[in-house]
Amino acid sequence: MLARRIIVATGNAHKVEELTSLLASHGLSVELIPLSSVAPDLEIDETGSTFEENAYIKAALVHAATGMPALADDSGLEVAALDGAPGVRSARYSGADATDATNRALLLERMRHVDERAAAFRCVLCYVDDQHVLFGEGSCSGSMAHEERGTNGFGYDPLFIGDGDDRSFAQLSPDEKHARSHRGAAVADLARRVTEDAADDGVDDRRYRDDLLRACVAAGLGDDTLLARALRGMHDATTATMMYEALLQCYLFAGFPAALDALGTWFTTVQTRGLLGEAPSAATIDVPLFETRGEVLCRQVYGSVYDRMMQRLGQVSPDLRTWMLVEGYGKTLSRSGLSMIDRELCIVAILAALGRHTQLFSHVRGALRAGAALHDLQDVVDVVTETCGHAAGDRIRSVLQDVSV
Ligand code: IMP
Repeated sequence: MLARRIIVATGNAHKVEELTSLLASHGLSVELIPLSSVAPDLEIDETGSTFEENAYIKAALVHAATGMPALADDSGLEVAALDGAPGVRSARYSGADATDATNRALLLERMRHVDERAAAFRCVLCYVDDQHVLFGEGSCSGSMAHEERGTNGFGYDPLFIGDGDDRSFAQLSPDEKHARSHRGAAVADLARRVTEDAADDGVDDRRYRDDLLRACVAAGLGDDTLLARALRGMHDATTATMMYEALLQCYLFAGFPAALDALGTWFTTVQTRGLLGEAPSAATIDVPLFETRGEVLCRQVYGSVYDRMMQRLGQVSPDLRTWMLVEGYGKTLSRSGLSMIDRELCIVAILAALGRHTQLFSHVRGALRAGAALHDLQDVVDVVTETCGHAAGDRIRSVLQDVSV
């Protein structure tokens, strides 16, 4: 579920109102608080090259700065004949001092002799809290008018004619516009993902988590019997996906061969038992996005030691430093399908099994920072003790005595 009180990364009161009523119409009753009333001086640079990146940058920064759940949106107009421009530069299309009027004038000028008029508004929402990063995406296709029409709305509304209509968006009433707008579609998409995510959380019972922990220990040690036992706990597509995510991330801690062997067994098991409708498909590789979200997540895990640790790693190996952010945190550990708490607990289990003390220390802290309770870590101690013996369980216990978060 979304948190009850969420900071919206915008100073625009109109947008806050619009998002509140759109969320409520999807059964998500939340109090949206404008950023300006909490952190009026917070500067956010929209440095991303996609709507997704910018929405994520804004939400993650606001979450990091305020410690509260945050919601951000990024939107704009994409014109096919202009290779998607103005796109992410919609608000600043005509320069640093752009206004809606100067932006529209420039766009009309660039489209003056262009016959191909197809265009679309797009909006991406991003919600970030301690355990979730959720996106919602919506678009609305149409075409560019040859001159401005109507006085309602804002931005490019007077130039945009939605498919199946002959009026511009600025000639529609607010209700008519909301019913077909990209922002409305993005909220609907986010609401759907929130519901799916809540279903995942519901599955997150402690017994099943023990199977995830056992599977990670088994992957790390190459213990086929233990892995087979852990895989028996999968009972539907959601638990199969959670297991896939837990085993996939093992390549970061136990290496590619260990993850590959374990995933091979996972694949045969889900096929034999018909647990997944479709085979997994690879996520899109988006290095800049991985880098930004990797840094945010890594900071969260390492807390106040992040800067020192990164500086040291940068001296030892700048390559490994970049891979840790992009590959480790941004690409792998930010994936959906498994909560951050479960990810961290699985990491603790595999590191304890492998005897990696320094990393273990960081990830016990990381698990607590992600919101794990002490009894969650006690479960990991129990599973590691049961599968690897007392010495391995005691490694976690002694770290727990040392850490103060
Ligand atoms: P932002 O998401 O608030 O940064 O908006 C980016 C820019 O996209 C706005 O300044 C507008 O120029 C344009 N834009 C976004 N949504 C709409 C819309 O619904 N109508 C018209 N223009 C829009």
